[in-house]
Amino acid sequence: MADKLHLTPVSEWGIFTEFHPMVIAGPCSAESEQQVLETAREIALAGIRVFRAGIWKPRTHPGCFEGVGTPGLKWLQRARELYGLKVCTEVAGEKHVRECIRHGIDLVWIGARTTANPFLVQELAEALQGTDLPVLVKNPINADLDLWIGALERLNRAGVQKIGVVHRGFSSLKHLPYRYTPGWRIAIELRTRYPDLPFFADPSHMAGDRKYVPELSQRALDLGLDGLMIESHCHPDQALSDAAQQLTPQALRSLLKEQLIVREADTEEADYRENIEQLRARIDILDENLLEILRSRMAVSEEIGRFKKEHNIAILQTRRWDALLDDMIRKGDAEGLNEPFLRSLFSAIHEESIRVQNDILSEKEESNN
Ligand code: PEP
Ligand code: MN
Repeated sequence: MADKLHLTPVSEWGIFTEFHPMVIAGPCSAESEQQVLETAREIALAGIRVFRAGIWKPRTHPGCFEGVGTPGLKWLQRARELYGLKVCTEVAGEKHVRECIRHGIDLVWIGARTTANPFLVQELAEALQGTDLPVLVKNPINADLDLWIGALERLNRAGVQKIGVVHRGFSSLKHLPYRYTPGWRIAIELRTRYPDLPFFADPSHMAGDRKYVPELSQRALDLGLDGLMIESHCHPDQALSDAAQQLTPQALRSLLKEQLIVREADTEEADYRENIEQLRARIDILDENLLEILRSRMAVSEEIGRFKKEHNIAILQTRRWDALLDDMIRKGDAEGLNEPFLRSLFSAIHEESIRVQNDILSEKEESNN
């Protein structure tokens, strides 16, 4: 059973001044004082108030640029003073948290590789206890919603209440144009379970290539997520990490100011309200009909189960099922319904039918005992 989370509203964190969407931007890594300050200045000119830069970098291969470490925190302090930015970085252990607090960092995030490790998350939760530092938790690198929720619970149990999440996509075997599978379904599931949790998307890591950052950012906004964390570097092609996915601050400005469409979550406008309510009422009726149809279908499954039992026939008849599924998909497709949707819907119905028939079989076994 998951914990209820006790959260401080993001409007009380003292970090963001704009909420539709909240934006965090900055380079993947702090590389030099000059690179940090030049990027920070341009990001501030683009109207962004929260600056990111990785100081300790979790890299796949040893020997890659692993971040400049603690000295880079001074550059973030400087960016903060010069351009009035709030500054944030990634933490992966107790020492990082201590150094961030010593340098007045405003917000920290937990990276995807760290969220996947409950020992490290516990260490971070204890280090953050009593600090009041806001924390964003990136999804674990594997598509495991419980692991992600577990990290939120560990922080919350340690008394951390300024918590948000960053959806940055999942590692996958599939070959996609994107670096990480977006897995929006999991994000929506988390959003539905914790509607008050500030929810960011990180289109940069999801994309792996700057050309996909706009479409992924728009998708995140269309799904009603609250914020974007976007990597931006004053000279992206020369970046020491994640060069392909970083935008120049100018491109970032154009994305935010000219390209992205921000939709309202809701409106009180009379015409919209009246129409949406009628449409919702229609959906409610159709959903009730669906329930009724499912109930009748399961009743027939029960009857089939009884019949098979009387004739001593096995429950699972794969060949019949495969033919039926193909037939439904063909018909559904002709009606313009999406094939993966039909496949998962009918698979769920089939699984439940088998469960119902199995129950009938065990009834028999019990009554024989
Ligand atoms: C990052 O934000 O630079 C980073 C390393 O991200 P992730 O943990 O999502 O890979
Ligand atoms: Mn990066």
